[in-house]
Amino acid sequence: MRNLEKLNQEFEKRSAHEIIAWAMEQFASRIAMSSSFQTQSLPLLHIVSQVSPELPVIFLDTGYHFPETLAFRDEIAERFGLNLKIMRAAMSRAAFLKQYGDDLYRRNPDLCCYINKVEPLERAMQGLDAWISGIRRDQSPARAHASILEQTPQGTIRIHPFATWTREDVERYRADHDLPEHPLTAQGYPSIGCAPCTQPVAPDGNERDGRWANQNKTECGLHTVLRQPPEHGQPLSVDSIPLIQLQGDSGDD
Ligand code: SF4
Repeated sequence: MRNLEKLNQEFEKRSAHEIIAWAMEQFASRIAMSSSFQTQSLPLLHIVSQVSPELPVIFLDTGYHFPETLAFRDEIAERFGLNLKIMRAAMSRAAFLKQYGDDLYRRNPDLCCYINKVEPLERAMQGLDAWISGIRRDQSPARAHASILEQTPQGTIRIHPFATWTREDVERYRADHDLPEHPLTAQGYPSIGCAPCTQPVAPDGNERDGRWANQNKTECGLHTVLRQPPEHGQPLSVDSIPLIQLQGDSGDD
């Protein structure tokens, strides 16, 4: 794991733009990113549109999103020219409702998230080696120790180019690049997921306090238990990734 540690040390000083450019060069067509198309998603989506607009951008359509999120997704995908890839549960919506009813998110949210988020992402990631997501350490205690590069036991490299960013950095980037805001952000939703599992947050609360509020759950599982199917093949060896030589400004865009 020495190589991964060295890369992580180096990337702590590098911009999100540089890390994404490195990832695209390193993994070429074997990489994808996911996005929930929130206000906080915009820096990652904007940089990807500049560095590598062909990168697949996976949106997990759970069937429970706010209509505002779906409209914002389509607006941003069109404006940025993104390669949007919408993934849904393996079973049809009708079959899901028939088997589990319309309150699985209340009775068993982990199962609901697995069916509607984790498994569809696993399917989208088949044959790929790396996954970019926009999580930040300041979002919640559960994310406070996220590394920029992490390797799953199955070998997939998770890349978090914004791990060192803060909420203020996101706002500064949006202002500098004149980027829009998810319509629910101004209504007190700093983090927006599925409608039944998202509530507004007090101004002094943690960004993700409104997610699964009043439940013993803080993550949907994408960032904690993502599993690759066995046919993914041999895990990628971290030590096979060449160390990089990065030059220039280390500041974030
Ligand atoms: S966030 Fe809620 S509604 Fe969405 S998949 Fe998870 S449990 Fe189901």
